[in-house]
Amino acid sequence: MIPLSAPNLAGNEWQYVKDCLDTNWVSSVGSYVDRFEQMSAAYNGVNAAIATSNGTAALHISLMLAGVKRDDLVLTTNITFISPVNVITYVGAEPVLFDVDPATWQMDMELVAAFFENETTVTPAGCVHTATGKLIGAIMPVHILGNMCDMNRASELGKKYNIPVIEDATEALGSTYYGKHAGSMGFCGCLSYNGNKIITTGGGGMILFNDTELAKKAKHLTTQAKSDPYEYTHDEIGYNYRLVNILAALGVAQMEQLPGFVTRKKEVAARYAARLKNIAGVKAFQQPTPGTDANCWLFTVAFENQEALAKHLLAEKIQVRPLWVPMNKLPMFRHCLYINDNDRSGKLYGDCLSLPCSTNITNAEIDRVGDQIEAFYKK
Ligand SMILES: *Cc1c(COP(=O)(O)O)cnc(C)c1O
Repeated sequence: MIPLSAPNLAGNEWQYVKDCLDTNWVSSVGSYVDRFEQMSAAYNGVNAAIATSNGTAALHISLMLAGVKRDDLVLTTNITFISPVNVITYVGAEPVLFDVDPATWQMDMELVAAFFENETTVTPAGCVHTATGKLIGAIMPVHILGNMCDMNRASELGKKYNIPVIEDATEALGSTYYGKHAGSMGFCGCLSYNGNKIITTGGGGMILFNDTELAKKAKHLTTQAKSDPYEYTHDEIGYNYRLVNILAALGVAQMEQLPGFVTRKKEVAARYAARLKNIAGVKAFQQPTPGTDANCWLFTVAFENQEALAKHLLAEKIQVRPLWVPMNKLPMFRHCLYINDNDRSGKLYGDCLSLPCSTNITNAEIDRVGDQIEAFYKK
């Protein structure tokens, strides 16, 4: 089987994990946690980075830091892995789901702009959704598949309506937008190191901050809000959302290899694009958002007859995956506002397949995938 996106652990992972075991620094503090945080802040061009147990925990803490409360509305995308939409409900808020841009497949910021223009009212308490009187608590763009949302537009709307923008950059580590790293432009930005992401710690996450005071608050909340180094005294309700030193050791080794991984992901995407561009059943490639240099995390294509193609490729031992079921189709979120333009996200979901694109995939394997796609459409 050619896997979809497998971890690549060919660097100093063993050595650094062994160091943790040899020195007994295995748990939630240790030099690798500090190093991983420092490397992440430096790489992404922010002032501070706080490691978390996973990307979902990073997003949850971000919403709390942004002051999102029960019954607020949070604006996010309809096509995403479920995590950002779940966390909105963790704080008692309600998602407003936005359709995607037809070319970039990202949350359509023009629909967001029109929503603010036509469906909200600025009051002394903040910007509210006119029909329900609910406060808009945050805008949460999700940079899906390694491409990026129109962050200039998102930032402009956030500023205009005084609403924090929280970037879900979990799929876009290594992507830049007009030279700025994914996750470095908003109120804060979240990363994930789950097994299929561009780098992995098995499971883990990070929150990126320009505001170092906010970063301190994040560390506090992820450490059970313990307020004294000696005594067990706590000044608010906190969480155990820390990343342990053993996993941070993996993270440090992975960060050392990240630039090489990004280069390889881009080569893989370019080779697929060249191989597939003249095949009749290919409907569309994802277009980079203007200003974006994408990490090409998961190479995804819109195909004719996608379901049958997927069956054919799986039978040929080529692991492919459809996009995530649109959030508005899930029973928990069916009642949420879905701001759409002829349900583009539903159509995109019906067309798309992600192709194998691990950093250690060989060119011969990419060509085999291309040959099989061609063979399918010739039949
Ligand atoms: C992977 C991912 C997350 C975070 O996932 P964890 O498994 O909790 O690290 C969040 N949002 C998106 C869009 C993701 O793809």
